[in-house]
Amino acid sequence: MRGGGSDKKPATRLVTGGRRKEWTGAVVNPPVWRASTHLYDSVADMRAGKASNEDGRFFYGRRGSPTQWALAEALTELEPGAHGTMLFPSGVSAIACALLAVLRPGDVLLMADSSYDPTRSYAEAFLKKWGVETRYYDPLIGAGIADLICERTRAIMMESPGSLTFEIQDVPAICAAAKDRGVTTLLDNTWAASYFFRGIEHGVDITILAGTKYIVGHSDVMLGSVTCTEKYWQRVRRTAQQLGQVIAPDDAYLALRGLRTLDVRMRQHQDSALKIARWLAGQPRVARVLHPALPDCPGHAIWRRDFSGSAGLFSFVMDGGDADAVAAFVDGLALFGIGYSWGGYESLALPVDPTPDRSATEWKAEGPVIRLNIGLEDCADLMADLAKGLERYEKTACKR
Ligand SMILES: *Cc1c(COP(=O)(O)O)cnc(C)c1O
Repeated sequence: MRGGGSDKKPATRLVTGGRRKEWTGAVVNPPVWRASTHLYDSVADMRAGKASNEDGRFFYGRRGSPTQWALAEALTELEPGAHGTMLFPSGVSAIACALLAVLRPGDVLLMADSSYDPTRSYAEAFLKKWGVETRYYDPLIGAGIADLICERTRAIMMESPGSLTFEIQDVPAICAAAKDRGVTTLLDNTWAASYFFRGIEHGVDITILAGTKYIVGHSDVMLGSVTCTEKYWQRVRRTAQQLGQVIAPDDAYLALRGLRTLDVRMRQHQDSALKIARWLAGQPRVARVLHPALPDCPGHAIWRRDFSGSAGLFSFVMDGGDADAVAAFVDGLALFGIGYSWGGYESLALPVDPTPDRSATEWKAEGPVIRLNIGLEDCADLMADLAKGLERYEKTACKR
């Protein structure tokens, strides 16, 4: 859906986005329109409907209804400079469709070495079979990406910060090098939720969100979105339609509900995560904390330059210890669940291993890595829980 209203501040756009009177009627939220069939008044009306390939008008259930249009429009408003947003049933389906929309057999795709693991698997399994070669680059490459661009390079897939290890990429430098050579840039912007970092404003052609995380924010809906500039809009839209992608109006409703509180949630995630990250950095058993707002995180200076805040997800590297010590730490936590998805209101802790998903760079660490999703619980309670976890880690690690 088309955007607009980018003259307003981001927090205001979260509240007003997509709430067109013709979609909400007399109530505040666009209702849930459950529909497969859209009915026409006459044959002439039906013919007129076919003539336009735009969202925001009834046509057929797969094209969505006001509930989905409102969400798409609100997400477009998160990315100033964007033309439209397509919605997907998961973050992975959004990534898959965005790459399909720009790549052709014979192309080379450049992908950050710290990319989300299923994005890598999609490239290695699906895109490879389809004739696209993926080459991985060091996430800290910056303007040096120019040396990797060849005749066949069609697109660059970025993710900043990187999954698990949180390297911040020089997105503007990479985009400038790509533009010089006519290469399309895509960014998985899930960590910043298109809120603490606005990709299109920084030169990206296509930004992708796993709305499953912060947009929904309550751990109860799977959602993906692709937001792009006018140049890519028809390509992205047609590819999504040809693949038959549509999301349930109930899910769109829940995502809209989540989106309205994104600003307050993100600020709280930021405050608590920063407090906990700084505290962890001072613990003797902790070798390093991988949090973009901390000075020793790779790419921290770029984070300071380009981001307006930091999210609640980060990792830390232990100094020595092993898998048993990690299990003692994680299993005994009272307030942290063990689970893969993140961005919800509840805290999570997860042992992670970046080693198998690296090919252009090598992951070297002093010990095991644990990733935390800092939720909206009281920060002091979370810290006390983690402190007991560190004691268990110490005991288990020393016994061995
Ligand atoms: C979770 C995640 C995805 C995938 O989203 P799903 O909705 O789970 O398919 C993509 N990118 C990043 C960075 C993620 O964390």
